[in-house]
Amino acid sequence: MITIIGAGPVGCYAASLLAEDFEVAVFEEHSQVGLPVQCTGILTQEIYDYFPRRNNSVLNQVNNVRIFAPDKKSLKLQLEKPDLIVDRQKFDTYFYNQARKKGVKFYFSYRFMGIKDSKILVKDLNSGKTKSIKFDYLIGADGPLSPVAKAAGIFKNRKFFIGVQAVIKKKNSNIIDFYPFKHGFGWAVPENKSILRVGVAATTNPKEHFARLLKRYKGKIVTRQGGLIPVFNPAAIVRKANIFLIGDAAGFVKATTGGGIIPGLRSAQILAHSLKYNLSYEAGLYLHLYPSLWANLKMRKAMDDFSEQEWSQLVKDLNSAKARKALQSINRDEIFSLLFKLGSSKPSLAKYGLKHLRSFF
Ligand SMILES: Cc1cc2nc3c(=O)[nH]c(=O)nc-3n(C[C@H](O)[C@H](O)[C@H](O)COP(=O)(O)OP(=O)(O)OC[C@H]3O[C@@H](n4cnc5c(N)ncnc54)[C@H](O)[C@@H]3O)c2cc1C
Repeated sequence: MITIIGAGPVGCYAASLLAEDFEVAVFEEHSQVGLPVQCTGILTQEIYDYFPRRNNSVLNQVNNVRIFAPDKKSLKLQLEKPDLIVDRQKFDTYFYNQARKKGVKFYFSYRFMGIKDSKILVKDLNSGKTKSIKFDYLIGADGPLSPVAKAAGIFKNRKFFIGVQAVIKKKNSNIIDFYPFKHGFGWAVPENKSILRVGVAATTNPKEHFARLLKRYKGKIVTRQGGLIPVFNPAAIVRKANIFLIGDAAGFVKATTGGGIIPGLRSAQILAHSLKYNLSYEAGLYLHLYPSLWANLKMRKAMDDFSEQEWSQLVKDLNSAKARKALQSINRDEIFSLLFKLGSSKPSLAKYGLKHLRSFF
């Protein structure tokens, strides 16, 4: 029996893959899938490796991106392949339905409380009763504060961005605005031509950054959301004996953009493959997930070293037609090729590429 804690997209996807070879049960503390929403729902087209092109959760597709420097000047790009904006509840429900179709048993309103003698303790939030259930494998897909990681004693050295977001009624031109800054980033992402998702993720002073950003996007606030976004730590322990962590619970999030959905789904795929073929989960991660997360982390560290003037200069330099062309032909995940393209597109940009590259080794 494989027991998964957390029916987020990563837990549900892992369940659907594992159900092909194992009996799987998922425990989720909320009463339904996909709520509350704490996400901007912006994804690159890599999501189609996990998700059909025909689906009902993609709300918008956006080709135009502006990257703002501290001096408020921006770099405008037109991506060859648009980013997708999804309805997170519908998105999560897709993975839930896939798992259900494969026979996974879901237990909603059940909270994981701890581990005792190879059994998990779960509390039925309706009756208030706690049960102990035996497991062969336990998977923590239980988000950034992973109670499973804590119960297993492997929740150590975690750092987080604090994410705050507002959904705002505001007419817009269907452009993604991105505001990288020291120790964080801000965004305004169009859900459609009259609704924006505006937010900030920062390790320090998120509320101040958010208040400043909101002044640029005045409109009626429909909802406010917030949550923690883990900072990837390649040294974090993600397995202890027959207990495994995936998704946010393992800290698998891109440090440049806060994107955790695609790396999380990838980790679920790697774990399912490892359990099916009795292979090392960690080796699979090192080969197939860590290189891109690590590159993002290094990029984040390099970005944090930039002064405001360097940021402004970088945006200015990138505004050359050749550099813009190089940037457009990649997606936000292709950091390595971005650096090489930057370095080769304009000699003055090489210093940024080299600065980053030096920090890769
Ligand atoms: C403001 C904000 C904006 C974001 N925007 C984006 C974005 O645009 N694109 C992107 O890719 N990522 C984004 N992210 C990150 C993304 O939301 C996460 O990476 C993603 O949700 C991770 O999925 P998961 O299944 O690992 O965890 P989660 O979605 O957090 O699911 C974990 C589940 O575990 C359950 N759980 C927790 N504890 C227990 C317990 N004790 N017992 C039972 N169940 C439990 C929770 O209720 C939850 O349902 C954003 C995050 C924030 C905070």
